[in-house]
Amino acid sequence: MTSLLELRNVSAAYDRITVLSGVDLAVGAGEIVALLGPNGAGKTTTLNVAAGLHPAAGGEVRVGGRALAGTDPVELARRGVCLIPEGRGVFPNLTVRENLRMMTFAGVDRARVEEIAFTRFPKLARRQRQTAGTLSGGEQQMLALARGLAVDPAVLLMDELSMGLAPLVVAELYALVVEIARTGVAVLVVEQFASTVLGICDWAAVMVNGRIERVDVPGDDLAADLSALYMGSVK
Ligand code: ATP
Repeated sequence: MTSLLELRNVSAAYDRITVLSGVDLAVGAGEIVALLGPNGAGKTTTLNVAAGLHPAAGGEVRVGGRALAGTDPVELARRGVCLIPEGRGVFPNLTVRENLRMMTFAGVDRARVEEIAFTRFPKLARRQRQTAGTLSGGEQQMLALARGLAVDPAVLLMDELSMGLAPLVVAELYALVVEIARTGVAVLVVEQFASTVLGICDWAAVMVNGRIERVDVPGDDLAADLSALYMGSVK
């Protein structure tokens, strides 16, 4: 399978402090990969490097087989990389429609952006004029996903989708992520708490201290290991 996203021996640092070392990850079309690990392991940094927002100090990031160079967000959107950051990634004082309209920067026209969003997320269609800050947490995350999908990404990077949301809402969002992956999008999801994502990912990488310590398919062994790693915090 061709990898749409590939990190090869990637290292990264803040100032001179190395926080990622020798990170290898490859996500193919239609695949969902979970990047798990405790606080401060380097998960968000990995996503930011994959999205071109933080430079790799060494190694290489490849998108669609081509090395990623530069960090211009418009260029990244054109290359098909979409990052949904931790904490929703919506503008709370703008309405749903206005939040979507901003995504036309990538060259997709407004009608098309709205069509993509409202077809996949009918709940948002009913709340077009509502300010994003007054949506429920799950709806805000849907809006963040809708904004991401507006640019028709090949690679979708998501940071802590489940943060602060009830388990049922998280399950609903992950069901949508599965649908998105089925259209051929390569999905890399960061989660600190593994339970829901283990139900939908094809495989998981466990990061500790800036290194990938383990790569495995979801199952009892992996869950037990994660349990030990987080000292019982995997629910
Ligand atoms: P969490 O689950 O807590 O968000 P994480 O696994 O996503 O953690 P990162 O946010 O990637 O981890 O952080 C990795 C390391 O890099 C941490 O030690 C963190 O303190 C450090 N770090 C992150 N961002 C910066 C920054 N802007 N400047 C300096 N150090 C940073």
